[in-house]
Amino acid sequence: MPASPPILVCPGCGAEKPLPEAGPWLGAALSCESCGWAPPRQDGFALLAPALAAQGSDYDPAGFAALLAAEPWHFWFAPRARLLAGLIARHFPAAESFLEVGCGTGYVTGVIARARPWRRVLGAEVSADGLAHAARLLPPEVELMQMDAREMPFRAAFDVIGCFDVLEHIEQDQEVLHAFAAALRPGGGVVLAVPQHMWLWSGADEHAQHKRRYGRGELEGRCRAAGLEVVASLSYNSVTLPLMLASRLMPRRGLRETGATDELTPPRWLNAMLRAALQAEVGMSLKGLHLPLGGSRVVVARKAAA
Ligand SMILES: [Zn+2]
Repeated sequence: MPASPPILVCPGCGAEKPLPEAGPWLGAALSCESCGWAPPRQDGFALLAPALAAQGSDYDPAGFAALLAAEPWHFWFAPRARLLAGLIARHFPAAESFLEVGCGTGYVTGVIARARPWRRVLGAEVSADGLAHAARLLPPEVELMQMDAREMPFRAAFDVIGCFDVLEHIEQDQEVLHAFAAALRPGGGVVLAVPQHMWLWSGADEHAQHKRRYGRGELEGRCRAAGLEVVASLSYNSVTLPLMLASRLMPRRGLRETGATDELTPPRWLNAMLRAALQAEVGMSLKGLHLPLGGSRVVVARKAAA
């Protein structure tokens, strides 16, 4: 692949400069020689969108702690991470650099970072408050930053950008996809996961402050509008769909009754059953057997090679 260098666009003055192929990006390499801009830092992490970081965020220490505790065993997380890492391996076998936008606790970032050798793995969150926790879970070479997904200062910088259950929180999801397309290297691509089917909309979506669940073809259309070619699109969480429906039909007794905290503590027997079912579903999906319905949509889309 002819190497066009990865580019940083200075948030201060807009000057473009090449980023180093080796060595960290989020330290001194961020500083601008043209205007003297350097990112403010919180706990040592670069704030690329400090105005947004200061606004206050969705970050909730109790919810974060509950998530940290749940991710290793809860049925939702491990099969999902395996699916996402598997799709990256299948569609981007030669990828060397990965950015996860909306990395949260760093759980999925860690699974993907450890799944294969990478030259570079970065994680970004709109809130800086959780980054120190995420850093403790992650291999030391993974770099973390605070960033606005709509205004990414990177050009031709990443082979793969992952964004998992994040786009539905952002009003301007089309802007985000344009930013992803610009930040991808030629031939690179995105792996996206979102909740789908508006008929599954419930109090849980409102509790999570979702802007939407995606309709049929909606995310694929937005990828194309951003100049990305859709190479895979599949439903996920098909085996859990009956449960999601049941929980909506019985809103006072359902798993989703009170939002995140309840959902993070399903009974052990139910968790074990759903986890086994989802692992089986992921195995099928990675073999190319796709089910038509499911609570989530996963889309893989590619930027044209130069
Ligand atoms: Zn500058």
